[in-house]
Amino acid sequence: MNKPIRSIRGMNDILPVDMHYWQALESTAQQVFSAHGYRQIRIPVLEKTEVFTRAIGAATDVVAKEMYSFGDRNNQSLSLRPEGTAGIVRAALQNGLLYGPVTRLWYGGPMFRYERPQKGRSRQFHQLGVELFGAPGADADAEILSLGTQLWNRLGLKNLRLELNTLGNSEERASYRDDLQFFLRGHRGTFNDDTNERVERNPLRVLDSKDPQVRAVLEDAPLLGDHLGEASRAHFQQLKSYLDQLGIEYFENPKLVRGLDYYCHTVFEWSTGDLGAQGTVCAGGRYDNLVELQGGRPSPGIGFAMGEERLVELLSQNDDIVPPPVHAYLVGVGKDSAETALKLAYDLRAGIPELQLLNNVNGGSFKAQFKRADRSGARLALVLGEDEISTGRVTIKYLRGENEQLSIDRDKLVGWMQDFIERL
Ligand code: ATP
Ligand code: MG
Repeated sequence: MNKPIRSIRGMNDILPVDMHYWQALESTAQQVFSAHGYRQIRIPVLEKTEVFTRAIGAATDVVAKEMYSFGDRNNQSLSLRPEGTAGIVRAALQNGLLYGPVTRLWYGGPMFRYERPQKGRSRQFHQLGVELFGAPGADADAEILSLGTQLWNRLGLKNLRLELNTLGNSEERASYRDDLQFFLRGHRGTFNDDTNERVERNPLRVLDSKDPQVRAVLEDAPLLGDHLGEASRAHFQQLKSYLDQLGIEYFENPKLVRGLDYYCHTVFEWSTGDLGAQGTVCAGGRYDNLVELQGGRPSPGIGFAMGEERLVELLSQNDDIVPPPVHAYLVGVGKDSAETALKLAYDLRAGIPELQLLNNVNGGSFKAQFKRADRSGARLALVLGEDEISTGRVTIKYLRGENEQLSIDRDKLVGWMQDFIERL
């Protein structure tokens, strides 16, 4: 016999038992996005590699170490998307979605990164994200942060901490980069090879190192804030004042940098202590240079992406999201029971769109069918035995609680079930 084949490491199946969390997350997010004027866009999971190397930066971990890239049959280099924004900008340019009034887009779907799989980190994972193009001001930043906050509130997620930083514009960042690199080079002896390589290739990334020795050195590192000009400071100040007015709590974290090169000015993350080491559930920032990098006329942008696996894990920690109840299980035994049950189920479903009904298959005795009904979690068993079939009636038995069973005419069942569902 052949051995069953297993999935690729780090690429997980999402099973029916967890689906109600995914569905609650996605449907709530869709409502909130759409209520803020964001429209969905769907783009391919596979793009020319250049879409990502240009946008994300060749020296970032995502591009240098984590991308799934390969040649197609024509030797063109393609990559599975590691994130959404680069491809969204490609699509927005290609389809003429930019340069009118502001453009608000949202997207969702699988992303791929070749990382070490662990709790909260997989090689195929899912993101939902929003992008707002054409608005350079802090009011746009505030809209994005307020949208995120509305979503967490709607999902009942209370322990999320918002951290904020500003990276300034590209000149300010470049000047800080040199300053920081100079400082870090002075500590080469205390760093491991990996860190030293980062110091050379992408010194800002050293700031979010988790290595305690590196963190100790960083205590005395120069701060980006000292390289910011008047306009960048004013932008950040304005955003904080909007957030204060909205009553959205935030924590400034001068060491917060993001792993992708395209960010400038505002960057932010929401994280929680309830998930262990991989506690960041949503992250984003402003990317005013990205459209130009991707070959378009400059247009400012800001957005975020949330990790669905991590949010689903959080949602599953409280009990308020439950799968929809099975209302009834249709039991049929004896002559003509299959035909009668199929017809009854058909009419009930046509009459009550929200009805969750299981019709018995594979025959079986009353006892066997009741066992299946019970295991299904159904509230009611609708019973068609020989008596019921010959008299045009159906017996209703409550499977949970103490209510007495009853018998009614089959043509009254739609109305009865409607009442039953309303009373749930
Ligand atoms: P991390 O520091 O955890 O690697 P990141 O900065 O690489 O995160 P982003 O590129 O900002 O992550 O992606 C946004 C969100 O997507 C993250 O905050 C996280 O919730 C989720 N995410 C990123 N990579 C993974 C992964 N490999 N598995 C599961 N979720 C992920
Ligand atoms: Mg990462």
